[in-house]
Amino acid sequence: NKNSIGFIGLGVMGFPMASNLLRAGKKLVVFDINAEQAARLPYQERVTIASSKEELAKQVDMVLLMLPNSPHVKEAVTGEGGLIESLPAGALLIDMSSISSTVTKEINKKLEEKNIDMLDAPVSGGQSGAMNGTLTFMVGGKKANYDKALELLQIMGEKIIHCGEVGSGQTVKIVNQLMSAVNLVSMSEGFTLGVKGGVDPEIMREVILNGSGRCWALEDRMPVILDRNFEPGFTIDLHTKDISLALEVGKELQVPLYATSLVHELFKTLQAKGEGGKDNSAVITLYEALAET
Ligand code: NAD
Repeated sequence: NKNSIGFIGLGVMGFPMASNLLRAGKKLVVFDINAEQAARLPYQERVTIASSKEELAKQVDMVLLMLPNSPHVKEAVTGEGGLIESLPAGALLIDMSSISSTVTKEINKKLEEKNIDMLDAPVSGGQSGAMNGTLTFMVGGKKANYDKALELLQIMGEKIIHCGEVGSGQTVKIVNQLMSAVNLVSMSEGFTLGVKGGVDPEIMREVILNGSGRCWALEDRMPVILDRNFEPGFTIDLHTKDISLALEVGKELQVPLYATSLVHELFKTLQAKGEGGKDNSAVITLYEALAET
């Protein structure tokens, strides 16, 4: 049992998550293609900076990934010089990135041939949840592996939910992202109509928070919209990525996703207008422009 943990991907989410592990006294071997990130980590006395994935894999038997999307995880694990080539048998790989559930299952199959265990453990809670250690983890994989990972995940998160076999964490994450995008659009559509109909949006919000149209977008995002503050938050670009994952999986599983497809086009319109870096609540501006409110 090696006493350092591998951590690959020190971006917006990975950096504060790794920092929390270090703060809790864990020793990390880290790797990011952007070498500057690792040098900025706190508690450097517990940080070993690896110059490649191979070098990292030789020093650990547990490794955490926090990368942008499916191709990055594929490349890091099964690509040339990938983790699969140098992690020891019996190692546990925990992928916390939000990626395709089918790609996750494919990667797991290849790892199984090498006796390497895998959990998918995507998160929700955003950058603030990562900084405060209050993320929700949706975990897919064998219960024994979940039990093994729990102590680590509890340092970075508050709710750690075992969702089923490998891939099920990603499936739950995709469903959540799809629903939040559809809810955001439904609220934007409704509120644009209501405001043009002459109703004060604050009053409309108060009423509907007690009505059946209530949703997280109304609770959490409408105050941001009313402040006209479209600083992210969670960007249109990232949400579009998650919606695309839902469409990919919908195609593979032959499940029609009518509302998701429409919402995808709306989000793509904002990207085409150069607004992909804005908070996802900016989707309402599209309706407002068309309705001339
Ligand atoms: P990010 O782009 O800020 O960070 C990704 C990091 O990975 C970067 O530092 C990059 O240099 C590094 N990287 C990329 N390819 C690599 C490779 N092959 N090897 C090593 N390092 C590599 O992304 P993020 O915002 O931290 O998001 C990470 C994941 O978490 C995404 O899947 C995202 O959808 C998900 N997520 C993000 C949020 C959020 O609010 N940002 C919330 C929940 C989930």
